[in-house]
Amino acid sequence: MAGLYIHIPYCKKACHYCDFHFTQSIKQIDEMVDAICVELEMQKDFLGHDTVYTIYFGGGTPSLLGEEHLRKIMRIIQHEYSLSSNPEVTLEGNPDDLTLQKLTTFFEQGINRLSIGVQSFNDEKLKWMNRQHSKSEAIDTFHTARQVGFENISLDLIYALPHTNHDIWLSDLKQILALRPEHISSYCLTIEPKTAFGNWLQKGKIKPINEDFAAEQFEILLDTLSGRGYDQYEISNFALPGYESQHNSAYWKDEKYLGIGPSAHSYNGKFRKANVANNGKYLKGIGERQIPFEVITLSPEDQVNEYLLTSLRTKWGCDLNLLKVKYDVDLLSSQKHYLNKIAKEDLIFEDEGFLILTDKGKLLADKIASDLFI
Ligand code: SF4
Repeated sequence: MAGLYIHIPYCKKACHYCDFHFTQSIKQIDEMVDAICVELEMQKDFLGHDTVYTIYFGGGTPSLLGEEHLRKIMRIIQHEYSLSSNPEVTLEGNPDDLTLQKLTTFFEQGINRLSIGVQSFNDEKLKWMNRQHSKSEAIDTFHTARQVGFENISLDLIYALPHTNHDIWLSDLKQILALRPEHISSYCLTIEPKTAFGNWLQKGKIKPINEDFAAEQFEILLDTLSGRGYDQYEISNFALPGYESQHNSAYWKDEKYLGIGPSAHSYNGKFRKANVANNGKYLKGIGERQIPFEVITLSPEDQVNEYLLTSLRTKWGCDLNLLKVKYDVDLLSSQKHYLNKIAKEDLIFEDEGFLILTDKGKLLADKIASDLFI
């Protein structure tokens, strides 16, 4: 099982919290799409001809792609890669781009899952984050997507914003439940250094995230979604039955993926690599038929620790047999005392060879994973 990720490195404006790779000038978008097509052809052997089950257009803002852009990329993928009979094809988009016409085009070209960046249904908060849409645009976009035929829609929300309160968060959650998307991703704000928020933090214009406040907002999230049919299959991701993101689940299960475009990462079971996070250098490299990337070398210890961090966040948990066979690590023996201790505290349990966090344990997921690091 393998996945394809296509990075579209353009955004209309920079959201104040975002440190993904993008530029705001879309002058070269045609050239970029052509380069992505060339890279797709050049990389067709990277996954060892494994069947591709998922395609994910991320960014940046893939909803800036035009009809012809998407057609070109999909044509190459269909031609050069072995696709499963019904692949999950996700496109990330922002409400301000997703017009009826765009949504119709995307749907007709095989996009069958939308991930809409809503972030909040509060206009003041949206403005404060420098988002380009309003609450009503987000709601209208959702209904338009349904009208077009999208039956698998994910909406994103951010919590723990400074200068906000639990009532605002609760009203965001009530609004999302009223729409009832198949999938909800909800992340705690992190303030990254190279962002507007990072800059404001340094200048003392905003306060750091209050961890207790963030934990309370996380508990409100769990309480509000509980009993509404959503399964928390990863700490920040909730899905109605059968609607888990197959693409992201594959990342968390240590499966292969190929990332195309500037800054995209890849993993083929043997090594990882990252394309250069610079549009100019990427275009130049591809123009010379040389993909500009660097190999990321992870020691076996780093690989185990990364697997612990990601797998413990999921409902499937950490596969003890995988650790033994792939990395020669016997966690049950080496961490016997600690695991017994946290099992008694009702933070973790073992089920058929998997270590799984309880709801209480999920609140401490990163700490528990790091305590188990080798
Ligand atoms: S959050 Fe999305 S739209 Fe905003 S700057 Fe980042 S990638 Fe672009």
